[in-house]
Amino acid sequence: MKNIYGLTIEEMENYFLEHNSKKFHALQLFLWLYEKRVESFDEMTNIKKELLEQISSDYSIERLKIVDVQEDVDVCKYLFELHDGEHIEAVLMRHDYGNSICVSSQVGCNMGCKFCESGRRKKVRNLETYEMVLQILMIEKLLGERISHVVVMGIGEPFDNYDNLIKFFQIINHPKGLAIGARHITVSTCGLVPKILEFSDFPLQINLAVSLHAPNNEIRNKIMPINKVYPIEQVMNALNVYIKKTNRRLTFEYILLNDINDTDECALELAKLVKNMNCYINLIPYNETNNLDFKRTNTVQIMRFYDILKKNNVSVTIRREFGGNISAACGQLRSKKEEL
Ligand code: SAH
Repeated sequence: MKNIYGLTIEEMENYFLEHNSKKFHALQLFLWLYEKRVESFDEMTNIKKELLEQISSDYSIERLKIVDVQEDVDVCKYLFELHDGEHIEAVLMRHDYGNSICVSSQVGCNMGCKFCESGRRKKVRNLETYEMVLQILMIEKLLGERISHVVVMGIGEPFDNYDNLIKFFQIINHPKGLAIGARHITVSTCGLVPKILEFSDFPLQINLAVSLHAPNNEIRNKIMPINKVYPIEQVMNALNVYIKKTNRRLTFEYILLNDINDTDECALELAKLVKNMNCYINLIPYNETNNLDFKRTNTVQIMRFYDILKKNNVSVTIRREFGGNISAACGQLRSKKEEL
């Protein structure tokens, strides 16, 4: 059975029209779900009983289970159990500007990036829209606070689950949904060119981040297999289309891996690659994991790399680190309850 939290307001309107009912019930339903936050159809007292019976025979309103919570300073990681027994994680980060949540988009991931823990398990399935919406809704409830920022940077490649992702954005951005401003939402991709192009035409002003991690094909091929399908030139071309169409600034994520992509030459090559592009680079100190061989670049070299970019007029920041102690940092999330 489909879950009610996966429906956009337009889909609800169509549903009611198809059932010889009125469009405005969609707004009522949205208000019950996202403003009043009821957890059963019975509580929706201004909708006719027969109609509620119809809805509840077509849709489930069941939530997910949170089966584990791990806390650290300013960060909290939640393990969710899905209806088919699979697991995913989401991470809450407390910033001075508000609460931000990192949501997962798939169970496992097929992109195979060599440095990433989340990709050690192949994709089992895409997350349904409701499973993404509920990550936010349930954490807000547990926390008793509003979440103002969302990043789709958990387990999975969001652009490999494009249609569900778009519906997720429409629901959480809707003023009567979770009302999270588009500019407070960021999606990150490893560079799926056709979807970047498609996303250029998506009307909401959601931020795009791209996991670049190397300044040339030779290095990128070694650490990100997707680069053999969509090499850097193609990614850059698609991103230039995106920037031109949306007039938005892009973020590049660049993990620093010791002796692999962190040399002075790499920094220079990177500066050249993004020259004159409306973008900024977010340098990510690599989070070491027990299972993978990559090493973190030392702080001195991180600063050198940063300085070289700066000197070459690239806007650059070093990502603030969260959650390393509880394996809640970038690339450390897993879609499994027990240790792999
Ligand atoms: N699949 C999408 C969404 C995941 S975002 C993407 O690739 O963009 C997660 C980010 O964390 C990506 O930039 C990823 O490359 C990065 N990452 C993966 N493993 C990491 C690690 N061990 N340390 C730091 N960053 C890592």
